[in-house]
Amino acid sequence: MAKLEIKDLYAKVDDKEILKGINLEINGGEIHAIMGPNGTGKSTLSAVIMGNPKYEVTSGTILLDGKNVLEMEVDERAKAGLFLAMQYPSEISGITNSDFIRHAMNAQEKPSSNLFAYIKELESSIEELKMSNDMAHRYLNEGFSGGEKKRNEILQMKMLKPSIAILDEIDSGLDIDALTVVGENLTEMIKDNNEISYLIITHYQRLLNYIKPTHVHVMLGGKIVETGNHELAKKLETEGYEELKIKYNIIEELKEKKKSTSVSCGIGSANA
Ligand code: ADP
Ligand code: MG
Repeated sequence: MAKLEIKDLYAKVDDKEILKGINLEINGGEIHAIMGPNGTGKSTLSAVIMGNPKYEVTSGTILLDGKNVLEMEVDERAKAGLFLAMQYPSEISGITNSDFIRHAMNAQEKPSSNLFAYIKELESSIEELKMSNDMAHRYLNEGFSGGEKKRNEILQMKMLKPSIAILDEIDSGLDIDALTVVGENLTEMIKDNNEISYLIITHYQRLLNYIKPTHVHVMLGGKIVETGNHELAKKLETEGYEELKIKYNIIEELKEKKKSTSVSCGIGSANA
């Protein structure tokens, strides 16, 4: 049973401080949701946990089962059990989905299966995700729709079986049917299973109708300002983030909002 501990984490990108003291503890079997408006640092947090070199940690610690994650290379983090389903998955031409996943499993020295067993497991996972059969043999994400890319991230997760899965806006680009399928697969994987936990990053409550979080955190201005249970997510859905920005005096985001209100009101497709 894995434990991820983030303590007083500060990080910057391009000399701009984004994370301003994040504290978070995730234990096996728990489902944490981090909710917050665009630009508040949610993807930055996931990138920092996974070790994206663009982001510089200026202070704080991240421990996985007591081991210092910040000293590990990205591949060592993956091997230790961390997994990130990305907000914007990359397309890689020339590498089939099937080869990519098999190589990732081998690189992590997963007790693997012979080729026949691997293919069988991959095919049944594809079926469980209601993806089309040819997905295994197509080049990684090439020409996939937004929703197919997101399902493909979950396919990788199902095969790699990480202990901490970070899902960054996995719901964006998914229609209601796909949302149901993804929610069901996520729920099925964690049911009665303390060997995995989720960190679900989203700015909507809707995915949380399909997978019920044990903890809900609100992130504003690079900090977690409130933590509660699934009721908090419902409250955010009806009340939005504006009250909280005022309450916690997130002045920068209030200013940003003022500037952009005339330009945009369609957050629904912003990340699709
Ligand atoms: P969220 O995922 O909550 O929408 P992000 O973590 O993506 O927010 O971004 C937080 C802030 O950091 C934004 O102001 C964004 O422009 C900035 N930022 C994130 N990544 C980069 C980067 N690679 N280069 C420059 N600025 C970045
Ligand atoms: Mg993001």
